[in-house]
Amino acid sequence: MLPLILLVSVIFMSFHSSVFAQDSPADDLLRKRARAIHEKVIALDTHIDFSPAHLTGEHNYTERLDTQFNLPNMIDGGLAGLFFSIFVPQTRESQNAEAFAAAGYERAYKLAVEKFDAVQRFAREIAPDKIEPALNSTDAHRIHARGKKFALMGVENGYPIGDDIARVKEFYERGARYLSLTHNGHNQLADSHTGERDGWKWNGLSPFGKQVVAEMNRLGIMVDVSHTSKEAMMQIAGLSKAPIIASHSAARALCDVSRNMDDEQLLALKKTGGVIQVVAYDGFVKTSKPDSSERAAALAAARKDFNLPETVGLGQRARFQAGVKKLSAKQRAEYEKKLGAIDKQHPGDAPANLKDFVDHIDYAVKLLGIDHVGISSDFDGGGGVVGWNDASETFNVTLELVRRGYAEEQIEKLWGGNLLRVMDEVQRIAREMQK
Ligand SMILES: [Zn+2]
Repeated sequence: MLPLILLVSVIFMSFHSSVFAQDSPADDLLRKRARAIHEKVIALDTHIDFSPAHLTGEHNYTERLDTQFNLPNMIDGGLAGLFFSIFVPQTRESQNAEAFAAAGYERAYKLAVEKFDAVQRFAREIAPDKIEPALNSTDAHRIHARGKKFALMGVENGYPIGDDIARVKEFYERGARYLSLTHNGHNQLADSHTGERDGWKWNGLSPFGKQVVAEMNRLGIMVDVSHTSKEAMMQIAGLSKAPIIASHSAARALCDVSRNMDDEQLLALKKTGGVIQVVAYDGFVKTSKPDSSERAAALAAARKDFNLPETVGLGQRARFQAGVKKLSAKQRAEYEKKLGAIDKQHPGDAPANLKDFVDHIDYAVKLLGIDHVGISSDFDGGGGVVGWNDASETFNVTLELVRRGYAEEQIEKLWGGNLLRVMDEVQRIAREMQK
C-alpha cells in the first residue's frame, strides 16, 4: 500500500522501446528460452492490493478493469497465483482518540472481514472456473496443474486484531497465510518503519505483539516484517520459531528508504530460513529526483494531448497504464516520440524500470543466496516499474532474469518456489508445536 510521502512524487512512465527491444537473432533466442521457462515455473506474486468492489461488483476482476491486477492481465502475463492483501488502514492516535480502542478496532476488524469475504466470494461464486482459493503449496500446485489461478491471502497490518488474540486464529481460519504486524504508523503490536521520521512507541514489539508472533507460529501463519521498524523486525527474527518473510520490500543498500531492509536485517531474515519478496515499487527501487517544473508541465501537456489521465495519486498509475494500452499503435508511437523530445529538451531522472528492480533481486541473491529471495509487485497499492507495470507484463521479469544468466531452477525458486517452501515449513513447525 502506498506510503503517503510517495503520493506527491511525480510518476513519469516512459516507453522507450529501445530499453527492452528484442530485435537481433540472439535476442529472439533469449526470448524463446525465457518463454519456455516462464511457462514451466509457477509465478507467484506475494502482494497485490484490491478493493472489495472490484471483486464482487457488477464490473469486477474478470474484466480488464483500469487496474494493474485483473484476471485478463494475469492470464496475459502468465502469473499463476497471488496473495491478495487484506489491507486495513489505520488512523493516527492523535487524530482519533478511539483509533486504538474498541470502536477503532471494531471498524478495522469489519473491513478485514469484508475483504476476506470478497476474496472468497470472487473465487467461489464469481470466477470459480478461473481462480481457486489456496491454503498451502499442495493447493497451489494442484490448482495450477488444472490450469486455474490460485488465490492466497495475507493480512497487511495487524491493527484489525485489536486486543483479541483469538482473532489471529480467526484470520487463519478465514485463509490468512501471512500477516504483517504493522502498516505505516505504529499500532498496538509493534513500531512501524515510519518511526524513523516520527519517533518510537514500543522500541520494537509491544508485549501483545510478542504474543501475536507466538500465536502465528503456533497456527502456521507466516510473520511478515514488511512495514515494521528495523528494531521490531530484528526482535521478530529473534523470537519467531519459524521462518519469517518480507512480503514486499527491497534492499536498503540500493535505495535508502525506511520501507526497505538493510544488510543486517536481510541476514537476520535469512537466519530464520525466511525469504524477502523483492518489491517492484518504484520509490523503493530507485530514489529519483523530482521533475523540474518545466519537465512536469511538458509531460502533463503530452498526457493531455493523448487523453491520458494524471499519474499522481493512488490508483492513477493503473489508470495511466490502462490509458496507454488503449492507444493505437500509431498513437503510441507518436506518444513515445513526444516523450523522447521532452527527454531531450527537459532531461529528468528516469523512473525506476525493470532493470533497476532486478538489480535488487541480484543484490539480495548475492547477499543471501538463491533460496531466500522472491518477487512481489504491490500492484494497485502503489507498485509497478517501467517494464513491469501491470500483471500482463509479468513475463518481462523472467526475460530479464534469463538475460542476466539465471537458470530455470533458480528462476523457479525466485518465482514462488522459495515462498511456497517457507509456507510449508511454517505450517510443519505449527503442527509440531500443536502436538
Ligand atoms: Zn504495503
